[in-house]
Amino acid sequence: MRTSPNVIITGTPGVGKTVHCEQLAQETGLRHLSINQVAKDRGCYDQFDQELQSWIVDEDKLLDAIEDEVVQGGCLIDWHACDLFPKSWIDLVIVLRCPSTSILYDRLSARGYNEAKLQENLDAEIFGMLLEEAREAYDEEIVVDLTSEKDDDVESNCARIVAWIEAWKNSQTKNID
Ligand code: ADP
Repeated sequence: MRTSPNVIITGTPGVGKTVHCEQLAQETGLRHLSINQVAKDRGCYDQFDQELQSWIVDEDKLLDAIEDEVVQGGCLIDWHACDLFPKSWIDLVIVLRCPSTSILYDRLSARGYNEAKLQENLDAEIFGMLLEEAREAYDEEIVVDLTSEKDDDVESNCARIVAWIEAWKNSQTKNID
């Protein structure tokens, strides 16, 4: 049984997954598992999508690569997709949202995304695709959406998530006692 929870931090590229995970890792000691980085480091990429200028991940390879680490608990899983992770691995799913398209546009164009990639990501955010994916894949009560537009949002979101992680750990300790 896990003594520390596994939390997915998901959302459209640019919503703030990395900034949230870095702060949460510092505050909680949970490990930041950046799936982009893991896929790169452990050779889980399959093919390159020319139009979107991005690599496509081999999901089976990726799950094999992270399974041993994740089943131990204490991971902040940072990725723009979530429904591939088995339900039994996951304790909380945070979907970050950036309702202001102009803020998200600025963040993504600062990365030099091409027009197709920019538009695909803005559409995904406008239609709430990641939230829908999370709600379809996991139990309703573990899926939480939080706004990430301003610096203050990062602070308040992280405070909420830290409190939730503490509560989860306390409830696990009581279950063991
Ligand atoms: P993701 O990991 O989801 O692709 P990042 O965490 O890399 O997104 O954030 C993209 C950019 O937007 C970074 O420059 C980051 O500092 C900024 N950013 C993200 N969330 C916020 C926020 N809530 N307030 C201010 N800036 C933010």
